[in-house]
Order: sequence, then structure tokens, then C-alpha cells
Amino acid sequence: MPKQTLANLTSSDLAGKKVLVRVDFNVPQDATGAITDDTRIRAALPTIQHLTNAGAKVILTSHLGRPKGVTESLRLDPIATRLAELLGQPVVKCDDCIGDDVAAKVSNLGNGGVALLENVRFYPEEEKNDPEFARKLALVADMYVNDAFGTAHRAHASTEGVTKYLSPSVAGFLLDKELQYLSGAIDSPKRPLAAIVGGSKVSSKIGVIEALLGKVDKLLLGGGMIFTFYKARGLAVGKSLVEEDKLDLARSLEAMAKERGVQFLLPTDVVVADDFKPDANSQTVSINGIPDGWMGLDIGPDSVKVFQDALADCQTVIWNGPMGVFEFDKFAVGTEAIAHTLAGLTGKGAITIIGGGDSVAAVEKVGVAEQMSHISTGGGASLELLEGKVLPGIAALNDA
Ligand code: ADP
Ligand code: MG
Repeated sequence: MPKQTLANLTSSDLAGKKVLVRVDFNVPQDATGAITDDTRIRAALPTIQHLTNAGAKVILTSHLGRPKGVTESLRLDPIATRLAELLGQPVVKCDDCIGDDVAAKVSNLGNGGVALLENVRFYPEEEKNDPEFARKLALVADMYVNDAFGTAHRAHASTEGVTKYLSPSVAGFLLDKELQYLSGAIDSPKRPLAAIVGGSKVSSKIGVIEALLGKVDKLLLGGGMIFTFYKARGLAVGKSLVEEDKLDLARSLEAMAKERGVQFLLPTDVVVADDFKPDANSQTVSINGIPDGWMGLDIGPDSVKVFQDALADCQTVIWNGPMGVFEFDKFAVGTEAIAHTLAGLTGKGAITIIGGGDSVAAVEKVGVAEQMSHISTGGGASLELLEGKVLPGIAALNDA
């Protein structure tokens, strides 16, 4: 069901309104509290500036880290400072997220003013989606915008509970972009549509693979999970990662692909190592030749070529899960090659979408993030969306 977005509202819907905006300012910080990467703050600027330009009073709420109660090092003051610099206007920092002091500060905001509430997870009620806490959060506002995709798969007070008390509740620009790419590209894709799924375990990707098998034209598998598929086919896999209790599942997924006419591709060669270490001895072998005692940590050069050929005519490519242990440079080659391949496809007009925390990190490490159509900001949330799940933070928004 399409959701109402900020773009559907006019300036007169927004002028003078107090708008509670759930953002994701969960930024990395060093030991002194300095922000080491402000990407997430910058990513929220279009929504914030759209609201301030329309004359709304913007009340921002976010979590930071995993506090157990009030935690001095996880206050949002450094974020308020950085946000004020980026916006070029003052940001009123509140030292709580509910209560009289917040109400007083918000009522002093002029049209176009911005306030930032304190870390919403200082209250355990946030993650419990406590209705009374949600009501108190909502009390200072007239309407709600959710622009925090990364927490949309959690029914928390600031993502789901508040929508019961604020109307309208709409998607911000960042959230809307995630929905357009992750749902849109899958439900009405430009075809051929390919998915590349990798990562460590097949068990963590069953839902994604099953859901994608109903949508894609081609499914390419890499990462640690391929060894469960190899073993299911009767191949020797040495010490590679295998989930013994998922062999039947691997067989049935392969059968499902065949039934649905999905081209199902496993790597044809792998890079094996004699230890799970960055400087382990390694060799490239055909999948029929994995030596005893060795473990597969990357896809090989022939597989890269096979994958490139399969992807060449694709108009949409979704990638989740690295092809190998990309954290070790020696075993990052396959992942790097696929990242460059996707960058090239984007250049030729294909839509390329990267979802999943480690996959995004890999693409960023390779330096081609800018060359992808869409890099999802939500690891867990993007996976759940790809699985076809309903995300509570999105379901709670007003229908378009
Ligand atoms: P994402 O976060 O993108 O969804 P995952 O969390 O599923 O991805 O998987 C990422 C992890 O998979 C990485 O830490 C990587 O080292 C690991 N991995 C990839 N290939 C292998 C392999 N052959 N053996 C063991 N681990 C692997
Ligand atoms: Mg991960």
C-alpha cells in the first residue's frame, strides 16, 4: 500500500505546524564524542529544510547507540552542534525528549525553527513502544514525519506509537526513496531483474531468497552460503562454512528456482584458504576440487566472469551480501569485482540497489558507492523489505 509522503503536502499544510520528525542520527563517534561520519545527519537535511522552508516548526527525535537509561556520553549535543552548522541556523537542543522543558522550548520556536530532542532511548519505554510514552512524545507536535528507514522495521514509540496521536503521519524524503527503490524496483522492475545474494549463512537469507525467487529472472549466489548448496549437490567443501541442517532447504530452493524458471547461478570456482586469517595461504580451485582441510573465502575469477555475463543485459540488479570475506583484502577480490561490475551497469542505465549493512560497507570500501542507483541506509530494515515483510514504522503511516 503506497504511503503518503512529505511531497504530497503543500506549504499551507505545513506552515506554522509543529512537526515531529523521526530521524536517524545514530552516527559513529570517537572516544571523545566527536562525530567521525556525519552522512546520516546530511542525509536528513532535504526533509528538514523542506519543512523549515515551508514555515513549519521542526522537532527532531532520534536514538543514539544503545543506552541503558540516561547515559552522558550518548547525549545528542554534538549532533545538535553539527546539525546547526550544516543547516546554517540555530538548533534548540532539549535535554529531555518529553516533559515541561521540551514543551516550553518548542512553544518558543518560531516558524522555520528547529529543535532536537534528547536521545529517545534514554527511556526504556521507547523500545517497548509504551503507549503512554508515545503520547507524551507526540504531545508537543501537530503532525509526524518518519525519515528513519533504519529503524522502520521496529515498532518503537518514536516510529510506530506516536502515529496513533499525530495526523497526518507521512514518510520523509529519505524513507520515501528507500521505499521507491527497495519495494518499487522489485514489484514493478525494469527487466531482466537479477538479485545477487551473498553473506555468511544461508539461514539468515532464507526469507530473502524465497521472496526474491518469486520476482527475479536471475539469482546469483556468493559468500559463505554457497558451500551449503555445494554440499547439498554432493560436492566436497573441505572446512568451508556449511549449515548441515540446511542441506534439504538448499535443495528445495534450487528446485524452486527451476520451477519458476529463474536462472540460478552458483560460482564455478572459489578461492580457498588454509586458515580463517587475512594472511592465510590461498589458491583458486574449481568447485570440484576443494582440497580437504581448506575453506572457501571468496568467489574465483571464472565465477566473476560468469556473473558479469549473466548481469550484462540486466536492467535492475539488487545486491545483498558480500561475495567473500571482504574484510580480509586477500579475499575481497570477488566482492570488489562485482561492485565494479554494478557501477558499470549503472553507467549503462541499469538500476542498481545495494541493501544490507556489510554489503554497503563493502561497496563503500571499494569506493563505488556514488555509482550505485541506491544505497540503502537500513541494514536490517532493507532485508525485511526485500523479504516482503510489512515494516511497522511504514505500515503506521497514512495511506496515500
Ligand atoms: P549483509 O550485512 O550485507 O546483509 P551478511 O551480514 O549476510 O551481509 O554477511 C556479511 C559477512 O559474510 C561478512 O562479514 C563476510 O566476511 C561474510 N562472508 C562472506 N563470504 C564468506 C565465506 N566464504 N565464509 C565465511 N564468511 C563469509
Ligand atoms: Mg551483516
